[in-house]
Amino acid sequence: MDFALTGEQRLLQETLRDFAEAELRPHYARWDRNREFPAEVWPRLGAVGAFGLRVPGALGGADLNYLEAGLAIEQIARGDFNVCYGMLNSCFAGDILSRFATQQLCETWLTPMAAGEKIISVMLTEPHCGSDAASIRTRAVRDGDHYVINGEKSAITLLMVADAGILFAKTAPEKKAAGVSAFLLPLDTPGLSRTPYEDMGAKGIVRGSLFLDNVRVPAANMIGPENAGFTQVMQTFDYTRALIGLMCLGAAEQTLEETISYVKERQAFGQPVSKNQGVSFPLAEAKSRLEMLRWLCYRTLWLRDQGLPHTAEAAMCKAEGPTICADVIRACLVLHGHYGYTQDFPVEQRYRDVLGQIIADGTPQIMKLIIARHVLGREFA
Ligand SMILES: Cc1cc2nc3c(=O)[nH]c(=O)nc-3n(C[C@H](O)[C@H](O)[C@H](O)COP(=O)(O)OP(=O)(O)OC[C@H]3O[C@@H](n4cnc5c(N)ncnc54)[C@H](O)[C@@H]3O)c2cc1C
Repeated sequence: MDFALTGEQRLLQETLRDFAEAELRPHYARWDRNREFPAEVWPRLGAVGAFGLRVPGALGGADLNYLEAGLAIEQIARGDFNVCYGMLNSCFAGDILSRFATQQLCETWLTPMAAGEKIISVMLTEPHCGSDAASIRTRAVRDGDHYVINGEKSAITLLMVADAGILFAKTAPEKKAAGVSAFLLPLDTPGLSRTPYEDMGAKGIVRGSLFLDNVRVPAANMIGPENAGFTQVMQTFDYTRALIGLMCLGAAEQTLEETISYVKERQAFGQPVSKNQGVSFPLAEAKSRLEMLRWLCYRTLWLRDQGLPHTAEAAMCKAEGPTICADVIRACLVLHGHYGYTQDFPVEQRYRDVLGQIIADGTPQIMKLIIARHVLGREFA
């Protein structure tokens, strides 16, 4: 057993940590207050490789392994939790397109995505179903060398600024999961319209709903074989759940460090408030929980890198990670006293932002179903 990172991996961490501190953290609050998409940093994130983590080198990506993608997202989240949604999407697109799409689609979309010039959303959820994703109703019907797509997608991260989406639609509606196909959908295709949500957090990464009215997509834009879309997405979610654990961890670690400095300086009853066990114990608990989470996520990504099963472990990262981190940030908010409740400190924003990841990509309940099936066996769970 070897827990050591390589010199290159430590350098990756340091480089991205410095970048997050200098280029992202100073603006994190502004993008929230203005509900502003952080357009100015997108190409700079592209330049440091943040959107090409899982894109092959030949297509302009950083071509990192899964563990390294996790190390990267953890560091960026310290500066700005929300730009990590862009990293997650690009990991998803990088993996799914480079494995299942045509070379031409990869060149058209992955290279500019890795450079931070194009944004690709993931379009699975619909108004009537999220957890039960195999019940989607968006329908794609073959018509010559095109598919005609009708339906509605909801909850889509980055939709209002995206250039394309990986869209899941039913090509065999009589089947559930086995009737879903994936398409690369350019968002300038006629027949599309979008509307934004007013979210409580992640305000710059505006989610939205997408309406598809007789949208014609070339058959060549299908990703992988017909009716194989659901399996592809589920296999990819397996590891993005560990990335989400680390994204939340980065935000919680940063908050914890800021809180440690605060309680050492803040005085009450003639001494630093840190001298009270009522203050130091929540910090000790937070540190312990984050350390457990970190190693679960690293190990899950390592399992994926080794080609070993990791579905249950990934579900554990997602079931517990965002909740642990939200708990830690909430405890830190209380340790800031009334200032924690103001917008003078980033802690309230991080709390709002992290909450969204408890739900996104599968709720804790759905993750526990996966883990329960693993520990009990399908016939007893
Ligand atoms: C910040 C954010 C970003 C998102 N980004 C995207 C995106 O980019 N693309 C995309 O496609 N989707 C996205 N989503 C949607 C997300 O994946 C869904 O919200 C999620 O899967 C839950 O689906 P739902 O909202 O329809 O809840 P429902 O499925 O309606 O569930 C409602 C409640 O019932 C519980 N529940 C449901 N079934 C069971 C069961 N069998 N046992 C126990 N409890 C159950 C759920 O856990 C939940 O608490 C995002 C969501 C959020 C909050």
